[in-house]
Amino acid sequence: MKLLRYGAPGAERPGLLDGTGQIRDLSGHVDDIAGATLDPATLARLAVLDETALPRVSGTPRLGPCVADVGKFICIGLNYSDHAAESGMPVPDEPVIFMKASSAITGPNDTVLIPRGSDKTDWEVELGVVIGRRAKYVPEAEALDYVAGYCVCHDVSERAFQIERSGQWTKGKSCDTFGPIGPWLVTRDEIRDPQSLSLWLTVNGERVQDGSTATMVFGVAALVSYLSQFMSLMPGDIISTGTPPGVGLGMKPPRYLKPGDLVELGIEGLGIQRQLFAADA
Ligand code: ZN
Repeated sequence: MKLLRYGAPGAERPGLLDGTGQIRDLSGHVDDIAGATLDPATLARLAVLDETALPRVSGTPRLGPCVADVGKFICIGLNYSDHAAESGMPVPDEPVIFMKASSAITGPNDTVLIPRGSDKTDWEVELGVVIGRRAKYVPEAEALDYVAGYCVCHDVSERAFQIERSGQWTKGKSCDTFGPIGPWLVTRDEIRDPQSLSLWLTVNGERVQDGSTATMVFGVAALVSYLSQFMSLMPGDIISTGTPPGVGLGMKPPRYLKPGDLVELGIEGLGIQRQLFAADA
């Protein structure tokens, strides 16, 4: 299933994308697409619905973040060896973990705001992993059982805030609108192998990132297992699994986003995001 949320910011309704690309309303069946909806029993109940019997949503409504009420937005740094190289960093021995504020989450096609004082706002297409069951001390062989599904994540990053302003990376990753997720949450049954997905990103039509999850240093199962040794992963938590090479920081000279730039990004089987960048007020 491709689960989504549509409507005005803060007033989104749950829906799904049917086999013909039409949005169908799910509000007769679930309150929202959020933690409690993502457990295996609820997903199984939704999976057997006759989608043609669900109310059809007319027009092309705004899409909200594909998951509501995200408790933890956990990011993995330097998880593609060639991206580590372009960042001038060694490939880590263990996953590099940082948090992105959940208040940064926004819809997949919403305008992204370049924060005050920023001149190094950068892009990162990433595979997002959405947790469906509480995971604690999970072995790697069972880790994917705890995954509800996958989505496109844009880990928008301000490099000066992240790297030049001291401390940890969080403040360069957490600005409002720096976390577009969606367009939809694709349930795990539709993604046979999360380690063989192509992912890409363009800036004003020019392809700058072109990679595959096959070159991740730590794969999805390893990351879920690893994180669960240190914290309980809860339904609705999102793990953004790192970006392939081609970010602005790695270009010579570095290239950053400015108001008016259009960024599009996608992952095989998970859909496409499209964002206009604008100055924050
Ligand atoms: Zn990232």
